[in-house]
Amino acid sequence: MNLEQHLNEITGRTYGKSISACTHVQLYSSILQLVKEQSKHAPAITGQKKVYYISMEFLIGKLLSNNLINLGIYEELNQILANNGKSLAEIENIEPEPSLGNGGLGRLAACFLDSIATLGLPGDGIGLNYHFGLFKQVFKDHLQRAERNEWIEKPCWLENTGTRFEVCFGDKKVTSVLYDIDVIGYENGVNKLHLFDLESVDESLVKKGINFDKTAVDKNLTLFLYPDDSDEAGNLLRIYQEYFMVCNGAQLILKEMKAKGQDLHRMNEFAAIQINDTHPTLVIPELIRILTKQEGFTMDEAIDVVSKTCAYTNHTILAEALEKWPLAYLEEVVPQLVPIIKELDQRVKAKYKDAKVQIIDKNKTVHMAHIDIHYGYSVNGVAAIHTEILKDTELNHFYKLYPEKFNNKTNGITFRRWLLSCNRELAAFLTETIGDGYKKNADELEKLLEKKDDQAVLDKLAQIKHEKKVELAAYIKENEGVELNVDSIFDIQIKRLHEYKRQQMNALYIIHKYLEIKGGKKPVRPLTFLFGAKAAPAYVIAQDIIHLLLVLSEIVNNDPDVSPYMKVVMVENYNVTYAEKLIPACDISEQISLASKEASGTGNMKFMLNGAVTLGTSDGANVEIHELVGDDNIYIFGEKSDTVIKHYEKADYVSKDYYDKSPVIKEAVDFIVSKQALAVGHKENLERLYKELLNKDWFMTLLDLEDYIKTKDQAFADYEDQQKWKKMMLVNIAKAGFFSSDRTIAEYNRDIWKLQ
Ligand SMILES: *Cc1c(COP(=O)(O)O)cnc(C)c1O
Repeated sequence: MNLEQHLNEITGRTYGKSISACTHVQLYSSILQLVKEQSKHAPAITGQKKVYYISMEFLIGKLLSNNLINLGIYEELNQILANNGKSLAEIENIEPEPSLGNGGLGRLAACFLDSIATLGLPGDGIGLNYHFGLFKQVFKDHLQRAERNEWIEKPCWLENTGTRFEVCFGDKKVTSVLYDIDVIGYENGVNKLHLFDLESVDESLVKKGINFDKTAVDKNLTLFLYPDDSDEAGNLLRIYQEYFMVCNGAQLILKEMKAKGQDLHRMNEFAAIQINDTHPTLVIPELIRILTKQEGFTMDEAIDVVSKTCAYTNHTILAEALEKWPLAYLEEVVPQLVPIIKELDQRVKAKYKDAKVQIIDKNKTVHMAHIDIHYGYSVNGVAAIHTEILKDTELNHFYKLYPEKFNNKTNGITFRRWLLSCNRELAAFLTETIGDGYKKNADELEKLLEKKDDQAVLDKLAQIKHEKKVELAAYIKENEGVELNVDSIFDIQIKRLHEYKRQQMNALYIIHKYLEIKGGKKPVRPLTFLFGAKAAPAYVIAQDIIHLLLVLSEIVNNDPDVSPYMKVVMVENYNVTYAEKLIPACDISEQISLASKEASGTGNMKFMLNGAVTLGTSDGANVEIHELVGDDNIYIFGEKSDTVIKHYEKADYVSKDYYDKSPVIKEAVDFIVSKQALAVGHKENLERLYKELLNKDWFMTLLDLEDYIKTKDQAFADYEDQQKWKKMMLVNIAKAGFFSSDRTIAEYNRDIWKLQ
């Protein structure tokens, strides 16, 4: 049966209709079924040793288009549908985006699953099936509102496996249900994403917005990702969720090993467990508990083999993001693990006196990362500079104990989603120009460098960029109601909202530009500033920054003196689907975190691959982008990480000094509480943000503001030298091969997992 016959057979079986008689919604269901049936023919990936990637988040994005690409049937199906008068692009729009992740860490997990399967490595993801996931963002009255994000519908990619496990907590026992999603490698076999759900979950617990009874654990465990943890019940709920994930994960891993007849005493020869950030840390004591209580291991044996099986990835140096729990909380939620955690702590105390490396500190607080580092065999950072900072400062005490455990794995992105799927025009042109070897061997993108002086190639790259800007403008017009000038420069900052990422610095630039235009200094070419960001609902200043951005867009876009020259748009509910539309249309990629604070970033890589030029600080993977493209193909500004770290050590950064010293800074900051801003926005939010910037500014916005303004103006001026700009685009694309997650995963396998 060929593909068209297969699809016709499915539409006939399900709806009693041929392809051409079906609606797009019916075709969406039918193609979903088609993919499921076709992927059954793709071989399951097997091998002696398997990696389990445990993560609180998997920000997988829509799957239809990627699965079709990876099965190698996208083009053929596109043609079949077109012949029947149907549009695959419109059918793709029907799919809801799974809401199983938050930001970069979850997106990384999704890219990794794609690359693990694509490289033909045996490896599954383990996580939770959140019914309402991360909240859906809506704007009302220039403020972010959080609503539940309903994404699970019938049909969908989730397959109920029928597998159930019991999970015991201090005061209750619950049952899990396992759902699987196929992870289809690019022209390769299939792995699984295992998502555990709570059998007794009760969606009706959610009353208004995202509020629910946090104490009804047997009903709420898998409702939301990262529920509000600003109170004790919220903290306990996080621990319940984390234990639920790893208890199920551990049972699944052991069950699979037993089914293969593998000797648990040699677990490390058959399994590697990658702990993505600290959330899955409890898998270590949980495995030790099961092995000692149910499998007859001595404590020494269990600790030894688990420590050779588990590896930890660190994603941040922000102290507030490294989890630590009061021992009393663990006693309440998982009392069965407490004796094991105490044993692990005792063994550390017996060996090392340094208070900084203890698992349980003098306040009876348990440091999760410390469990991972002592009882895991690998600790990796996610970009070169990040790993160096871990070794030199943040985790220096551990590095001195275990230098051999520390290694770097610079993050990557899957080119299937972030090039082949989101920018089919560019992918097709690259194939035409340098062949299609780059699809499997990303380094081959460098062949494009040979075309650096080929005018036709340069013009075509610019033409594709323009087409993508036209497409984005249409999408924004439809979804945000704002008309964009497609001949303006598209300057884009999309990422979670956090003060360290410094969206507020970009906002201050926009104020500066607005005031310049009001004063008669018009830009040579119109400018479009695009933002997308969700802020944690309990993060007050982040909400205030969103408020400022929305207020600015209202002021700028409605000012007839200014709006012909600039527009500001903050898109609603930024997610993977939106990223796939924004990134191909970008001219300037904003990567402006305070140096030392962004572990890696992966948005920066997606933009580069799509021919945007980075405007960024020497932080995270920007440093490696800079090394690859050279000074002439990137805009780097701001203080370096060592300077920033010294400011923190000496506590000598005073934002007010920068404000007093610079009339430009003062004018921009003061605008936040000007009559004009207060006429549109709320006094409470704007004043709080103003005071924060003047009196605290913990992430040193004003430190880099002047250099930022100067460098950004230079980038805009350089854009007018179109020949130069096109070459910059070409070099960025050509050098992006290093950031394929296939490279990252090959390194994880070579250095950490050693699967084959
Ligand atoms: C890539 C991605 C991120 C990470 O972006 P950074 O700029 O690296 O923080 C966050 N959210 C979505 C939807 C993404 O696709």
